[in-house]
Amino acid sequence: MAEKKIILTGDRPTGALHLGHYVGSLKKRVELQNTGLYDQFVMIADLQALTDNADNPEKIRQNILEVMLDYLAVGLTPDKTTFLVQSHIPALYELPMYYSNLVTMSRLERNPTIKNEIKMRGFERNLPVGFMTYPISQAADITAFKAELVPVGEDQLPMLEQAREIVSSFNRIYKCDILKEPKAVLPDNETCNRLVGTDGNTKMSKSLGNCIYLKDDEKTLKQKIMSMYTDPTHINVNDPGHTENNPVFIYLEAFCNNQHFEKYFPDYKNLDEMKEHYERGGLGDMKCKKFLNSVMQELLAPIRTRREEFAKDKGELLNILKKGTQRAIEISNQTVSQVRNAIGINYFNDESFKEKFVL
Ligand code: ATP
Ligand code: MG
Repeated sequence: MAEKKIILTGDRPTGALHLGHYVGSLKKRVELQNTGLYDQFVMIADLQALTDNADNPEKIRQNILEVMLDYLAVGLTPDKTTFLVQSHIPALYELPMYYSNLVTMSRLERNPTIKNEIKMRGFERNLPVGFMTYPISQAADITAFKAELVPVGEDQLPMLEQAREIVSSFNRIYKCDILKEPKAVLPDNETCNRLVGTDGNTKMSKSLGNCIYLKDDEKTLKQKIMSMYTDPTHINVNDPGHTENNPVFIYLEAFCNNQHFEKYFPDYKNLDEMKEHYERGGLGDMKCKKFLNSVMQELLAPIRTRREEFAKDKGELLNILKKGTQRAIEISNQTVSQVRNAIGINYFNDESFKEKFVL
């Protein structure tokens, strides 16, 4: 049998996971997991979270099991997916040391996602070196497991490009083909590449406080939907409305299907009909939000229930993570050995090392 292709993705434990994570990556991970065709690693990126939270490690500690719960709640399972915690994998400290010599400062500064994140966090002169170099660390995460597929949202494309460049430089300079070039797997639906926040901001993000969390209870979810940003020019019901850049319609685009209309909003057959009415005028925001609420409650209720179930046994949660991390250490150590051999810094286990040494 051909070897299974490897998948690696991860999330920063800076908060519970939200709808952006779900549509941007988690959903895809569950689908890929369930094909049985891949060996999937899912990593809690606590080292990466420290790059902009060094003064607040408690936040990261708090969110390790929170993120684990979200993983299990959406349907990732330890018998099909290996869960690991980044800080416990020695390879992820060693590989970046080698890779950082293959990347120039100007190349790092060109990364559009980093540029944007620096601006968002207001770092200016106080930019931590570790933050600036996290794309190198991310290349280590991916290549340590020889992952070829990385299911992520669109903001991660520059990171994958950087990882591919590192792989190709490494293989060329050290004349080997040890490292594999990774490819992003983006969501099927374009609106999901970068899901907007409830405030209409271009990205739902923990750091921006504009999230609907997978763990939000029924009441909170409803409240968030009912107070969502819509179209500011749609003041009276009969005013023509805009569906573009309107988060309510963006979410409907991402989450609803025709059965939802049959069940919760039979006035329309599908989203196109509903949009058409909103744009023409005569369909109020309240009705749209109520419909969106029904759709979202249907999606999130079973996730919430599973989450509550798994939350009952915290010891088991931690065990799953520990076991997965152990497996990840073994696999990534093999890559590190190959990398050391390729560079030639394997002095103590290379017979030819002393033979070739001439005084
Ligand atoms: P932080 O604000 O701490 O950076 P975040 O909300 O941006 O948190 P990450 O942990 O950085 O979340 O992202 C994890 C994964 O989820 C990445 O693959 C990213 O592309 C995806 N993702 C995050 N937010 C969104 C979003 N709004 N739409 C689509 N994908 C997203
Ligand atoms: Mg992020």
